[in-house]
Amino acid sequence: MKLIHIKSSPNKKSNRLRAAVMGSNDGILSVSGLVIGVASANGSKIIILTAGVAGIVAGAISMAAGEFMSVSAERDNEKALIAKEKLELEQNPKYELEELTHLYENRGLDTATASRVAKQLTKADALGAHSDMELNINPNNLTNPWYAVSASAISYTSGALIPLIAIMLPFGVMTIPVTFVAVLIALTITGYISAKISGSHAAKAILRVVLSGAAAMVITFMIGKLFKIVGV
Ligand SMILES: [Zn+2]
Repeated sequence: MKLIHIKSSPNKKSNRLRAAVMGSNDGILSVSGLVIGVASANGSKIIILTAGVAGIVAGAISMAAGEFMSVSAERDNEKALIAKEKLELEQNPKYELEELTHLYENRGLDTATASRVAKQLTKADALGAHSDMELNINPNNLTNPWYAVSASAISYTSGALIPLIAIMLPFGVMTIPVTFVAVLIALTITGYISAKISGSHAAKAILRVVLSGAAAMVITFMIGKLFKIVGV
């Protein structure tokens, strides 16, 4: 299945993986804070579940909408570049042929071969060849916003399910500590993966994400307790 285009360079792939990790991180952080806050305010399981599910739906939609806007902009940009290339091909085909020949030379073909390849491809599909070589875009397979939308919604939801499932477990008074630990383990994993992707120091990245998760949960826990004491 080839939903996304723009040639999959390793960089692009790791960008997508990074986006998926960031999405699940977001899901873990925001929903853990939400359910722990409600639980510490003495919310019943059904209220915790309602808050958790609402948090997941709202968060996933907001992630997806943000992703949709940014990928749509990228797609519009690709279209504009292709349109410009098309115009250039119409207005100055001779220059464009030379340009394409040079691009193949730069890739390592000798002048004669490059010229032959450029001529043949120009005859077959000039716009396709130029978009590919100059812009690294396949005009028949532009970046698909729906891929990014579903990927971010899915990664957010999968992250968010960890604290929600943990807090729904029948552990009585231990439910909040269990959730706390489950979330910190999950964040350790996402922190480790994101460090591996970016090639940065794993311990530092893990510490950063785990500390921010712990802070978020402690703060929402205290807010919940406060509401309970005040009796809202
Ligand atoms: Zn061109």
